[in-house]
Amino acid sequence: MSRVESSVDNQGDQRFGGELKQGLSSVSAGSPAALWQKVLDHLKNQVPPEAFETWLAPTAGVEIQNDFLLVEVPNTFFVDWLGQYYVSAIDDAGRSVLGGGLKIAFRTASGAAPAVVTPPRKRVGTAENTRLRERYTFQTYVVAECNSFACAAARAVAESPGTKYNPLLIYGGVGLGKTHLLQAIGNHLLQARPGFRVYYTPAESLFTELITAIESGSTMDFKHKYRSQDLLLLDDVHYLVGKESLQEEIFHLFNHLHGLGRQIVFTSDRPVREIPTLQERLSSRLASGLVVDLQPPDLETRVAILKRNAAAEGFDLPQDVALYIATKITSNIRALEGCLIRIIALASMNGYKLTTELAAKALKDLLPQAASINRETILSQVAACYGVTPAEIRGRARTQRVTLARQVAMYLYRNMLELSLKEIGGLIGGKDHTTVMHSLSKVEELRKTNSDFDEKVKQLIVGIGG
Ligand code: ADP
Ligand code: MG
Repeated sequence: MSRVESSVDNQGDQRFGGELKQGLSSVSAGSPAALWQKVLDHLKNQVPPEAFETWLAPTAGVEIQNDFLLVEVPNTFFVDWLGQYYVSAIDDAGRSVLGGGLKIAFRTASGAAPAVVTPPRKRVGTAENTRLRERYTFQTYVVAECNSFACAAARAVAESPGTKYNPLLIYGGVGLGKTHLLQAIGNHLLQARPGFRVYYTPAESLFTELITAIESGSTMDFKHKYRSQDLLLLDDVHYLVGKESLQEEIFHLFNHLHGLGRQIVFTSDRPVREIPTLQERLSSRLASGLVVDLQPPDLETRVAILKRNAAAEGFDLPQDVALYIATKITSNIRALEGCLIRIIALASMNGYKLTTELAAKALKDLLPQAASINRETILSQVAACYGVTPAEIRGRARTQRVTLARQVAMYLYRNMLELSLKEIGGLIGGKDHTTVMHSLSKVEELRKTNSDFDEKVKQLIVGIGG
């Protein structure tokens, strides 16, 4: 189980001086729920919305015990996951909102011993101060036709920077792996050449930094920092649109580094020639080396990426589940991952079984077209599947076929739309909740014992668009 220290203490961190005072006064005033809500409000701006919904929204501040704000999470898997991926963000938010008064600890409703949030110590000379994510390596990058050329170019640059392909420009649509590939070059060089100065930055951050430097009269420091790198990884240069001062700065930076034989790699969401208002002299520089593109992955590649990512989290994703997700999400790899994370979270509440139904549920939350699943669709699809009419399902007939169709419809209302027993009873001709419950367990039982039936239900779920 992950431990979460809070290095927060009363001397505090100067950064949070202002909030610290504020935080301390509200500690005495606030209830655990309200305090945690404030931390959550803060976190909302720090973590991606999908991650927030999945991992943070289902948590609640429940108690203050000694110096701890105890936060309840659905199960121990959440404790691990939050501890592994969000501990720094939570710690930062905690400092900022609670000041030094309270530390944060997670516990499950079953009352297992709470785990205290401890952010990892920052290490010097590693990916930490180059702003690279350790996960983005060539080893974790699935190579396929859609990206093989780009990947080969990136590898060549990582093997001999500053020689053949300088600059390298990688372009491709959102979520196709530009940032991953860009950082893989950096991570490779950090490993292969200790002391090699690698710096990664999104163009947007570069812009903010430049503005701050101009305002505080420290542009010399800014220039020095960037001009002393051996490898500059500049992400999302399409952001340069309309930013004249930034374009100017990058133009000179580029010339400087290039002149010294230092490697530069850019990414963009479109070919640089298509970036409007990019100064001609800059766009010709950016495109002067090798330009490679990333295409959307085909089905097999999407399956391979899903399986590899799941394996990296310690899950064996069954082929049919991977195939199911990969068929539904076709273009964006980030969306594939979002779905996988959601399934893993659902599975954690469900005895860790990764099934197509869980995938259907996860996708329902993520895909707009899936959100349109409605009661009518379920009823009409089930009716069609059993060769009966929707009216018969809602009616009183008790033939075997109608009864089974009715039970399946109730089961799908419950599992695909999460309707209450009462609502379901109302939809199926005013049955009471014990009848509904009996039907649900009947279907569950049948699914376990009769594989043809199980297959039929799976196909219904897929057909309905879950
Ligand atoms: P972009 O920068 O193009 O928007 P990212 O590099 O952020 O896309 O990729 C989105 C997500 O998809 C990342 O988590 C990344 O690890 C993953 N990803 C993209 N391409 C691959 C690939 N070929 N193999 C494994 N994971 C990938
Ligand atoms: Mg990116």
